[in-house]
Amino acid sequence: MTPINATTAAVPQERRLVTEIPGPRSAALAARREAAVARGVTSAVPVFAARAGGGVVVDVDGNSLIDLGSGIAVTTVGASNPQVAAAVAEQAALFTHTCFMISPYESYVAVAERLNELTPGDHDKRTVLFNSGAEAVENAIKIARAATGRNAVVAFDHAYHGRTNLTMALTAKSTPYKRSFGPFAPEVYRMPASYPFRDGMDGAQAARRAIELMDKQVGAEAIAAVVIEPIQGEGGFIVPAPGFLTMLADWCRAHGVVFIADEVQSGFARTGTWFACEHENVVPDLITMAKGIAGGMPLSAVTGRAELMDSVHEGGLGGTYGGNPVACVAALAAIDAMTTLDLPAQARRIEDTVKSALWAVAEKLADRDRGVIGEIRGRGAMIAVELVRPGTDEPAPALARAVAAHALSKGVIMLTCGTFGNVLRLLPPLVITEDLLVEALDVLADALMSCSPR
Ligand code: PMP
Repeated sequence: MTPINATTAAVPQERRLVTEIPGPRSAALAARREAAVARGVTSAVPVFAARAGGGVVVDVDGNSLIDLGSGIAVTTVGASNPQVAAAVAEQAALFTHTCFMISPYESYVAVAERLNELTPGDHDKRTVLFNSGAEAVENAIKIARAATGRNAVVAFDHAYHGRTNLTMALTAKSTPYKRSFGPFAPEVYRMPASYPFRDGMDGAQAARRAIELMDKQVGAEAIAAVVIEPIQGEGGFIVPAPGFLTMLADWCRAHGVVFIADEVQSGFARTGTWFACEHENVVPDLITMAKGIAGGMPLSAVTGRAELMDSVHEGGLGGTYGGNPVACVAALAAIDAMTTLDLPAQARRIEDTVKSALWAVAEKLADRDRGVIGEIRGRGAMIAVELVRPGTDEPAPALARAVAAHALSKGVIMLTCGTFGNVLRLLPPLVITEDLLVEALDVLADALMSCSPR
């Protein structure tokens, strides 16, 4: 694996614990936080960051942790990528904001041009920029409704699309995302997804099931859009069975339904291609993007067929900060870095390293009748380990939490996810070095061996 761009080595690429986790400085900040920050917002790890870059996060006590989370799939090019940092500093000195809806600037247009080129399909496209993933999804639905004159929107089991009112309605899981926050936006219909490990269906069977329900319960002529994550993220890194997405997209095309791929988590080289729907040669009508797009700066986008995008009346889309100039130059620098470092290829190499390490642990555990690994799945640097009670497919969420906590105590940041909370998810920055990745995988293997029931 090619090492990270040498200039990112400003943060030493090492795992090094110098205090307990959390250390005293983090503990003191946690106390201040408790008195000042609303408790609804929680954190996966109890350490406060001082700096981060490449494959590590360094905390305020000087502990250097290997990062397998990338701030939830955001810091694809590293959290202090030098090109991104330079572009941000330069732009901030020129102007931080004018509002694209008042006096526009070139970087917004340049980002739109790049996204029109990079996203799947060679049709005529247009792009509009926002701040967050949820905002991109909301706007994609607005565009689909304006373009079709229809109201209904179809989302899937295990889906995650955000925390605003409409995107909560699209999101499947109640706790913690929706509980006590209703009523939710109307005209949202939920269909069964494809979850091969749990439903045992092939892609065609799962697609037929969803299509039949859409026909029967909603009616194609009422549906503005079908919105789906090509690999479901928060729901458990669920890769649909081959053919599922293609059949859904074909059905949408045949019935004038806008097919929206939510690539907020899976986009930008993460899965080994620029976008995850490329694995299935699916060309979405609209695609939503955020997270990896701008090296950590808040930016999101909807890109899609020109005739759909331009069906919205003038002034119908926008927002004060959408396509902020500092975020736009960060995106241009991040996309350049992804291209020059060939990060899609890097993601494929990470997949090989991660999967072979995980298969080796799975074998060891199975040999000892501790078969807690139900499935290892995912693509590129978006890999999941679904944990179960040995010999069953019953979810084991407590084990997932224990493994993540064990890994953290040894200096590795490891996230969990899944409808059942039983999935370990590996999302390293794509610029992580091979050595650091292997070291983190050793820690994970050790955590799995120590925490699995005997
Ligand atoms: N869609 C998907 C697929 C996501 O993974 C997320 C975030 N996890 C969102 C939408 C929402 O993005 P944001 O948190 O930036 O609003």
